[in-house]
Amino acid sequence: MERCKTKVYPDNLPTTSVVIVFHNEAWSTLLRTVHSVINRSPRQMLEEIILVDDASERDFLKRPLENYVKKLKVPVYVIRMEQRSGLIRARLKGAAASKGQVITFLDAHCECTVGWLEPLLARIKADRRTVVCPIIDVISDDTFEYMAGSDMTYGGFNWKLNFRWYPVPQREMDRRKGDRTLPVRTPTMAGGLFSIDRNYFQEIGTYDAGMDIWGGENLEISFRIWQCGGTLEIVTCSHVGHVFRKATPYTFPGGTGQIINKNNRRLAEVWMDEFKNFFYIISPGVTKVDYGDISSRAGLRQKLQCKPFSWYLENVYPDSQIPRHYFSLGEIRNVETNQCLDNMARKENEKVGIFNCHGMGGNQVFSYTANKEIRTDDLCLDVSKLNGPVTMLKCHHLKGNQLWEYDPVKLTLLHVNSNQCLDKATEDDSQVPSIRDCNGNRSQQWLLRNVTLPETL
Ligand code: UDP
Ligand code: MN
Repeated sequence: MERCKTKVYPDNLPTTSVVIVFHNEAWSTLLRTVHSVINRSPRQMLEEIILVDDASERDFLKRPLENYVKKLKVPVYVIRMEQRSGLIRARLKGAAASKGQVITFLDAHCECTVGWLEPLLARIKADRRTVVCPIIDVISDDTFEYMAGSDMTYGGFNWKLNFRWYPVPQREMDRRKGDRTLPVRTPTMAGGLFSIDRNYFQEIGTYDAGMDIWGGENLEISFRIWQCGGTLEIVTCSHVGHVFRKATPYTFPGGTGQIINKNNRRLAEVWMDEFKNFFYIISPGVTKVDYGDISSRAGLRQKLQCKPFSWYLENVYPDSQIPRHYFSLGEIRNVETNQCLDNMARKENEKVGIFNCHGMGGNQVFSYTANKEIRTDDLCLDVSKLNGPVTMLKCHHLKGNQLWEYDPVKLTLLHVNSNQCLDKATEDDSQVPSIRDCNGNRSQQWLLRNVTLPETL
């Protein structure tokens, strides 16, 4: 943005150590990351670069890498994990070895742009409890084409605890008085690229060292920062490119799902209070995954007197996919057919289905919220024409075609805009719920019930 180019930053900004962890990274992308840090960071702010090798199995990442970085004009250290540990514990090792006032974490396939660092460090200098992320530009993994990332999206997450980008809401635009060069307060960070005051990183409990390989640590640190008194921002004048890879080039020992579910359970158990149920009932089977001992993380939350997750939802993420208030969470059952609404694992813009109730959560989990939306994860039931099929669209929070009125006596779900009732099917397709003129038939009666949570909870 033009207005970023003329911003003036204080000259005595803090120094930063740049910590880059890697496992089996390609030479070219790793070294491009290192060189772009050196070439595009003011020397007086760059304390050192620390490369943490998470037990890579490629020879060129051993002595050849050490010999190469010795010749660079900035101190670059290579430290190694004794065994494959994952990015969380590798970053912890890099952080422990760092000397700068600030730690900047980068993935091993990034390219820093001119002027990337000053805006990040300036925010931390202004308030050491501010944790900052650059805008992440997209480097194509097919062509290495470089594309600017958007300043109009921020970090969120869905019921499955996947990190997702969502549009920056109007309230955040208003808070910045429309000035897009001012930092965006973001509910979550993507995870790979951020700067944090080194002492503050210690104070708020670094990372959860019980998490393995990859995943969940970004939501964990995001919740922790907000709930424990910090601030998390995307600094829109700072841009760093990142190669988004379609497939993970490395193994997940023990299974990808198993590891990510374990990490997610740890963060849900420590930080999300009763709202963890959204995660648990939409992900059948996850409650069987052993998440180990979380007592020291729970103790940390106690010690720091962190706020509840409901506070976070209300104050930091009011447009969250997880509703702060809701009437029901679970199946929605048709009285006549005894079948349940089912998202059939379909995607945005597709029709919602109806199927035999299985009581296993997953695709049959809907929440009727206090805002009178019927949501399944980050999609809302929406109808745009009379007698039309019910589709699943991104929730827009504007009521309109996503506003439903449940009558707990008549058991009807009235689509307010059309003044029609949710019916088990359309005229010609028995698999597609629709809206029809309200007629009091049992095909228009629905039971909103909580799925019983697995006993292991
Ligand atoms: N990484 C690591 N050990 C692992 C998995 C990942 O050191 O077991 C590194 C990886 O090389 C990268 C960073 O952690 O520098 C983030 O991983 P990745 O880029 O695969 O995550 P993504 O950007 O796809 O979320
Ligand atoms: Mn990456």
